Amino acid sequence: MGRADLVLSREAPPARVVADLAARLGEAEAALVRVITALSRLEPVSAEVAALAGVQVRPVPPCIPLGALPVHADAVGMRFVTVVDLLGDQGLLAASAYRALRARTADVTPLVRRWMTGASARDGRDALALRIAGVAMRPLLRHLSQSLEPADAPPCSASGHCPYCDGEPDFSTPARAARVLYCARCDAAWRAPRAGCAFCRETRPDRLAFRRTGEPPYGLEVCASCRHYLKSVEVPVSEYLAIERALSAPLDSGARAAGLVG
Ligand SMILES: [Zn+2]
Ligand SMILES: [Zn+2]
Repeated sequence: MGRADLVLSREAPPARVVADLAARLGEAEAALVRVITALSRLEPVSAEVAALAGVQVRPVPPCIPLGALPVHADAVGMRFVTVVDLLGDQGLLAASAYRALRARTADVTPLVRRWMTGASARDGRDALALRIAGVAMRPLLRHLSQSLEPADAPPCSASGHCPYCDGEPDFSTPARAARVLYCARCDAAWRAPRAGCAFCRETRPDRLAFRRTGEPPYGLEVCASCRHYLKSVEVPVSEYLAIERALSAPLDSGARAAGLVG
């Protein structure tokens, strides 16, 4: 008898659960938990959801052509501002960066188009604006990928990319003879082989490193061949992906500082 697959919920965690958790954490960790769980509560507006009916979903992965997603400037702009304000309120943005990002709301549509095509950033601040544009589009993308995900169990995919939006995974949980990967872009989950790098399939032991860190322990798998890292947890604090992402966020800063790609 193997262990059952551990699949975290992609729903927004209840406010009470977040408040209880934040009360037990230090200030910086509590701020991250509040921001990341608040982002999971963003929703698309009904006009955007209605427009999704016009998106031609492909029968084979990646099913969702990102460039075909409808862009409703008002709705995306509202979410863009919400994200910037959240980061500002929790002290995660310098005042000048906050003002500069707020000013980008006016050109949110071209920003989203650039995010859709994977355009490269002009500088650090532009990179942050592009990331926030992606976060502002996530509720809509998630709505679509959720409608394609099987209800009973994650689909199997040996690819290192999300079967729905082609995004890369940022988190994993254990499954029977496999692992469940979660898409950093749309939160979809899929079952992937346990062995080797999730991104480039490197299997040579001397190219892969794994360490556990923090309390409770989150895992960090690092591949020396493609320089990607993947976070994981075997015994999560909660049943929610947003909370596990937030609690393991300090690992992201460390890994990025070491020149790794998340
Ligand atoms: Zn995805
Ligand atoms: Zn790799």
